[in-house]
Amino acid sequence: MTANSEKQDIKNHWQNFIGGAWVEGSGGDTIAVENPAAAQQIATIARAQPDDVDAAVAAARQTFESRELIDMRPSVRGQMMLDIARNLTEMADEIALAECLDNGKTLAGGKNEAMAAARYFTYYGGAADKLEGRMIPLGKGYVDYTVPMPFGVSAQIVPWNFPLQIAARSIACALATANTVVIKSPELSPLSMALMVEAIERAGVPSGAVNLICGYGHDAGAALAAHGDVDHIVFTGSVATGRSILKAAAERVIPCIMELGGKSAGIVYADADIDQAVASTAIGIFTHAGQVCSAQSCLVVHNSVHDEVVERLTGRARGLSIGPGIEGHDITPVISAAQLDKVEGYCLGGSQAGAEAAVGGRRADAEGYFMQPTIFTGVRPDMAIAQDEVFGPVLAVLGFDEPEEAVAIANGTDYGLVAGVYTRDLETAHWTADRLSAGQVFVNEWFAGGVETPFGGTKRSGFGREKGQEALLNYVQTKNVAVKLGGGAGGRPGG
Ligand code: NAD
Repeated sequence: MTANSEKQDIKNHWQNFIGGAWVEGSGGDTIAVENPAAAQQIATIARAQPDDVDAAVAAARQTFESRELIDMRPSVRGQMMLDIARNLTEMADEIALAECLDNGKTLAGGKNEAMAAARYFTYYGGAADKLEGRMIPLGKGYVDYTVPMPFGVSAQIVPWNFPLQIAARSIACALATANTVVIKSPELSPLSMALMVEAIERAGVPSGAVNLICGYGHDAGAALAAHGDVDHIVFTGSVATGRSILKAAAERVIPCIMELGGKSAGIVYADADIDQAVASTAIGIFTHAGQVCSAQSCLVVHNSVHDEVVERLTGRARGLSIGPGIEGHDITPVISAAQLDKVEGYCLGGSQAGAEAAVGGRRADAEGYFMQPTIFTGVRPDMAIAQDEVFGPVLAVLGFDEPEEAVAIANGTDYGLVAGVYTRDLETAHWTADRLSAGQVFVNEWFAGGVETPFGGTKRSGFGREKGQEALLNYVQTKNVAVKLGGGAGGRPGG
């Protein structure tokens, strides 16, 4: 089955969702959605512009002020979220196809996305009635308690690589805490998020509680981030965009969660299980063609096992098939022609700087936007391929002798999203995890962890945490209620 034949199976036009209604863009414009595996347009989606952002924020504001979500019994809100999860599970095949066609994923990868999104709604739906305040003792004559209050309208901006999971984790936290949402889908891969909003609509979520707009970043995205009636921003994307959003938020002094890029290293010690380290590294860098914020894009390997690890990894890379996700290939396309140029440009730059491509280094000879799986050796820490987020299937390998040197290489970038350690020695694992500057450290398995484990960056990778119970704290603000009890008798009821 070719990607082209699947074209018939999805709608060819998609809309935005504002105030409980599916709508076109106010300007009547559309955005073309492309299949990166075939370099062909597969659909159009209504283009939201600043007027549409105004309408979406107004709808979210009205629903928030109606108190419908906040007055609802939290267990009922939680049940509504479990209904969303059930709908997503029922729609998993449809969602998988959308992820396959506009994002280049395999059907299995797309289904995984749908199930992960459902899991976020289950996890946070279960938490909706467990977010409690505290009673603070003030002595006789007073009662004092805290209430976790929603911020109000949460503006959420999502990148193209894992739109469904990322949107699910942010929307689920917002609904569990009774915020309302305006979410902007990525212009390159918006389809699965539209399906998720159908799942939300079918669960009977109040009109205006979740509003979906698709638009360009410089236009709809910037208008949303700068909107005067937004109370809270969740941004997942690049450092450059995060910086501009933070400036807009600073103007209005509103809180932000910043989930930004990464350049993440796995350290392989001499005592590591080499089979495990090689298999895990291949998953860490080649999943979704390396377009993962937490990709293992650097391998820092002890010089005593360097050649063996490189040889095994290159052998593995040579065995990977390259082609459309819908056909189940290992290396699926990068998202666009521009992304392919960027990734290949980094590889050419790496070779010019003196690194050696042990395998790959060029785009693949194919119709869509395919990059060869690439492993560079002889990489110096100051090279761009060791410092920058390439966001493609490109691994930079560096050698080390002493543990301190390995940690210095791993920490020596502007980023600090995740990091990893491969060793059989628990003490070495803890020593290293302790010293790595990263929001999450994987020991002996890249991408270990899950919906339950807090995730987020240090340094330029951002701040705030998504996932896990900790994420909920980013969606509420504490209100303290301090009560002076009346009556000269110090609160003793009168006769
Ligand atoms: P991007 O920053 O270009 O775009 C992200 C989103 O921001 C898109 O919806 C885009 O339309 C919007 N946008 C662009 N310019 C804007 C502006 N001026 N104002 C408001 N919105 C704007 O990032 P991308 O290329 O879509 O995604 C890749 C990046 O996302 C990588 O850096 C990756 O590491 C990062 N990412 C981070 C995480 C995480 O959880 N930390 C997860 C996935 C992706």
